[in-house]
Amino acid sequence: MDEELTVLKSIYLDDLIINNDQETSISITIYSNGDENDFDPDKRLLFITLIAELPSTYPDIDSPKITLCRSRGLTDQQLDELNSLISSCLELNSGSCVLYECIELIRSKLSLYELPHEACAICLTLINNRNDIIKTNCHHFYHKNCLASYVQIKKNELEEKYQEAIKCKFAMEKDFRNDIEDPVCRQILSSTVIEQLPSSTIETINNKEENRELIKKLSPNIRQWQERTHALFQQQKEKGGIINLDKTQEIIFS
Ligand SMILES: [Zn+2]
Ligand SMILES: [Zn+2]
Repeated sequence: MDEELTVLKSIYLDDLIINNDQETSISITIYSNGDENDFDPDKRLLFITLIAELPSTYPDIDSPKITLCRSRGLTDQQLDELNSLISSCLELNSGSCVLYECIELIRSKLSLYELPHEACAICLTLINNRNDIIKTNCHHFYHKNCLASYVQIKKNELEEKYQEAIKCKFAMEKDFRNDIEDPVCRQILSSTVIEQLPSSTIETINNKEENRELIKKLSPNIRQWQERTHALFQQQKEKGGIINLDKTQEIIFS
């Protein structure tokens, strides 16, 4: 038993507390594996504390007595499931060291529970690969690519608004260009979330611009044609052959 505890201590370090009162017991708070967003365990949604009382006859004759307590974010149903998983794990491994097994079993379950059960609100398909997911600061889940495209579109919109405001000399309280709202709850997305998004969408937009440049260079005819049609358009407008939308609107609204 001492050997097992030494190994556990070297794995879990300060997370594992060993009490050597009359009877040895250990306690450890287990968090889900989390994702890249969650370096800080305080921000993890789910955790549970496992306490194992170890009789002196463990592991040869008796199993430890395991209690799960002080959980956060787990439903009663999930707690029941964890408890019965622990029971069957103890039963299966009776006579051998089982603590590591139990702790990691719970951790993998917490990680599963943490996966969102609803669809990505942007593309409406289910999220089933942890690596594709991004969790926002407001605890909403999206596909990384979906959120990246959304953020790019919003960024462009805000930039346009900003330029417009400068042009019209509107008084601005602050630079709002990075105030991108979560698609669902409208909270401002934190810069750490945005930094984690793949940049592929930005590249595609740049590529499009590059293509446009290329077309311009390759065919001066296109430019000429554009100028000719523009002149034709002006001519027809002057003759009244084309309805001027701006003017019509002015008439309607005045
Ligand atoms: Zn999606
Ligand atoms: Zn949100």
